[in-house]
Amino acid sequence: MGNNSWEARADEYSLYGFTDLPSVHERGAVVVTHGEGPYVFDTKGRKYLDSNSGLWNMVAGFDHPGLIKAAQDQYARFPGYHAFFGRMSDQTVLLSEKLVEVSPFDRGRVFYTNSGSEANDTMVKILWFLHQAEGKPQKRKILTRQNAYHGVTAVSASMTGKPYNSVFGLPLPGFLHLSCPHYWRNGKPGETEEQFTARMAAELEATIIKEGADTIAGFFAEPVMGAGGVIPPSKGYFQAVAPILKKYGIPFIADEVICGFGRTGNTWGSQTYDFMPDAIISSKNITAGFFPMGAVILGPDLADRVQAASEAIEEFPHGFTASGHPVGCAIALKAIDVVMNEGLADNVVRLAPRLEAGLAEIAKNPNIGELRGVGYMWALEAVADRATKTPFASTLSVSERIANTCTDLGLICRPLGQSVVLCPPFILTEGQMDEMFEKLDKALKKVFAEVA
Ligand SMILES: *Cc1c(COP(=O)(O)O)cnc(C)c1O
Repeated sequence: MGNNSWEARADEYSLYGFTDLPSVHERGAVVVTHGEGPYVFDTKGRKYLDSNSGLWNMVAGFDHPGLIKAAQDQYARFPGYHAFFGRMSDQTVLLSEKLVEVSPFDRGRVFYTNSGSEANDTMVKILWFLHQAEGKPQKRKILTRQNAYHGVTAVSASMTGKPYNSVFGLPLPGFLHLSCPHYWRNGKPGETEEQFTARMAAELEATIIKEGADTIAGFFAEPVMGAGGVIPPSKGYFQAVAPILKKYGIPFIADEVICGFGRTGNTWGSQTYDFMPDAIISSKNITAGFFPMGAVILGPDLADRVQAASEAIEEFPHGFTASGHPVGCAIALKAIDVVMNEGLADNVVRLAPRLEAGLAEIAKNPNIGELRGVGYMWALEAVADRATKTPFASTLSVSERIANTCTDLGLICRPLGQSVVLCPPFILTEGQMDEMFEKLDKALKKVFAEVA
């Protein structure tokens, strides 16, 4: 790494988030300059197939002409405004209408943020505000699940069920984590998947009774856990938990930041898993990654109650400077159109079985314990021993090695625990999919030969 190289300069002045520092010090950061379709290029001219769509979000690839034009046109027309004091841009009005139209709700209201974390944070504040306005100031606890990923702000990190947040002294008090509904990993010997789901539901009800329903503000869940390791719910999970939440008057919020807009093969993950939430959190795909944006989409009941609570004090005292930014809204309008009407969502539906079949072939490797996922989001979990599901020693950094070996072969994929995540852009062609399979298979064989 020459002193004046891009890697050295990145290393000297940037604080990397979620990065394995030993490996980046040894290998140098990949400094990326531009992209073409699902590929990105680095400062050395190397080309990588990004099988993670950036961070799940660049679903239309890295150079979509329609999205670039939507951004350029809106910058030329009106490059920025806020949504405070009774003013908002025309693009914001249009996007709220569109989001309610494509949501599973008949009616609703939308609030904008700059990220998924802020959208979850905003939703928690909405619930606290609402319950307090309705005479239940003690109804403040938030229920999520272990392995859930809801973001990194102090509140959304408290909702995230990952052990790394303990280094910040998080979670904050009042954030409770239920068990992760991952049958393969957490099922007991002899327990059927149905019995496992029933146990998850019983745990939820026991927690509500123990804590008191009147102390619980809401339950948040990703339809498929994303950053926790691509974990689809156990069979019947949402059908089992939804009636319990309803029975105790606990709002059910679907964090659709990854699943929303086509990732699971339907517009919403809640459609794929057949449940009706009270509100939806959206971000990532909402702008196909071309602008930072998040949205809280309230269904009719919560929308009416928040509106009434706001009327009572004459305002909803919350908002970000860039909430409902006109350029972001114009891009989101275009991104939703591109995904839903220009064949991207159809691609996912058409090619998901091919993606699954190709990965299933790779997963025959005896060091792959589980292939899991749906639509265009999958993970392969590495194991030292398949029969006992024993992981590799963490000192071997197996998933880091797999991801680094893939990078050397020109494939970007993400290590997550002992798993490797594949969540390609929706524009991926069959030929590009085969390139991904071939490079991944090669990397896995190489790494397992070294460590097994
Ligand atoms: C990425 C993610 C978030 C956080 O979004 P940021 O834009 O990174 O703040 C929240 N929830 C889920 C499910 C996510 O995948």
